[in-house]
Amino acid sequence: DSTPLDELIASHAVEIPDFPEPGVVFRDLTPVFADGPAFRRTVEGLAAPSLGDPRAAALAPSGTGGTGYDVVVGVEARGFLLAAAVALDAGVGVVPVRKAGKLPRERLSADYTLEYGTATLEVHTDSITPGQRVLLVDDVLATGGTLAASVQLVEALGGVVVAVSVVIELVDLGGRQRLAPHAVHALWTT
Ligand code: AMP
Repeated sequence: DSTPLDELIASHAVEIPDFPEPGVVFRDLTPVFADGPAFRRTVEGLAAPSLGDPRAAALAPSGTGGTGYDVVVGVEARGFLLAAAVALDAGVGVVPVRKAGKLPRERLSADYTLEYGTATLEVHTDSITPGQRVLLVDDVLATGGTLAASVQLVEALGGVVVAVSVVIELVDLGGRQRLAPHAVHALWTT
């Protein structure tokens, strides 16, 4: 399929106005996940960003000879669908960042603000080793609060976030600025 990846994602993503609450335009990516070829190209795009990004070589998985990353971290819940596939494609492992109360062993927590109230993300303390290079993956970058908390967890464990890969970046919400100086790679920016 020669359709550019951003167009492919744009044509499969569905916009739902006023979900989950009035004023929010929800971007539903489940049709991208459900379509085999679209899902494959999305996963490959997240795993080995090209698209003319000068950081592409640095982002190649370490096993491929790039300076790369050693592990993929996915954020609950939609990030899990992507992160596991990206890790398999890249030949590295996958680590979950979970909502509070789900991880059974010693864990580190980070609170972050949502539009209304706060939430907590957690990671097992032994899931990242100091110096490990991490690719962070989620489906949608909105305000960046969720991914900023995830970056905080990875860095507190000594991990090095080499990039944040998302399928959709909602530019007006400023997530990229919030995550700076970390590189954000988005397959579709809208
Ligand atoms: P953020 O504001 O960047 O912390 O976004 C929080 C989480 O909610 C992300 O993991 C996204 O998956 C999800 N999210 C936020 N806004 C949207 C949206 N408009 N459509 C779909 N998912 C969203």
